Amino acid sequence: MHDKQVALVTGANKGIGLRIARDLAARGFTVLVGSRDLARGEAAAKTITGDARALALDVTDATSIAAAAERIRNEFGRLDVLVNNAAIGHAGKPGRSLDEILKAALPSVASLDEVRAVFETNVFGVLAVTQAMLPLLREAPAGRIVNVSSSGGSLTRTSDPANPYRAMFGVTYSPSKTALNAITVAFSRELESTPIKVNAACPGFTATDINNFEGTRTVEEGAREAVRLALLGPDGPTGTFSDDAGIIPW
Ligand code: NDP
Repeated sequence: MHDKQVALVTGANKGIGLRIARDLAARGFTVLVGSRDLARGEAAAKTITGDARALALDVTDATSIAAAAERIRNEFGRLDVLVNNAAIGHAGKPGRSLDEILKAALPSVASLDEVRAVFETNVFGVLAVTQAMLPLLREAPAGRIVNVSSSGGSLTRTSDPANPYRAMFGVTYSPSKTALNAITVAFSRELESTPIKVNAACPGFTATDINNFEGTRTVEEGAREAVRLALLGPDGPTGTFSDDAGIIPW
């Protein structure tokens, strides 16, 4: 029996996911650095102090998800923490500025193919990975699921004319996070009679590839809330949405 707690972070080869993986390894976890490209996952895992191991995982590929779950079952027999971090901001040509991404997400012009591709990763990917990992989380004494969401997915905020987040709302990335929030609530409800807690975290506007490094927070700051939710004790909440300033309205 593996004595350390085991955490899987999807999309952990860079950005906020890598920082979450680093922080959990520093707290004594065996961390599985999920990466759709194994070589990049291995390179990232090497930069982490502690027990970090690369795990090939493309969240849009059912075969890859099943193989990842099988490996975790064979090596550890359980999963203590799942951080659903992997996401894409758009599916258009690389290098678009944030302004171009937001314009392409306007409901009157958004490409349905692009909306589908973003939902495939940010929504169905999370659902598929969570379904595959749930039997392993049930084997842990106190499983934790953290969905890395965005306050851009808060309908309360984005429908408020006085709120600056309104400018971020299109029909591509933001509603994918609204749907992710709905999935968070649904899983937390289904699992409320178990020790498993399911919460959503917003990193805040963080400088990473997803926004061409236009974000204003560091990855250390961006990882903070997800790490806190991954470490919740038995009295911690389930079915919440928060950032490091507190609860975010749905
Ligand atoms: P990055 O673009 O730096 O990282 C995204 C990660 O997701 C990469 O590792 C990427 O892998 C991975 N990924 C994308 N598609 C897949 C897939 N199909 N299978 C597996 N992995 C995949 O962005 P961030 O670090 O900023 O994003 C992390 C999370 O934070 C996301 O959920 C994002 O929505 C959320 N967030 C970020 C904010 C910010 O301001 N940065 C604000 C609010 C939320 P690859 O390298 O192969 O592309």
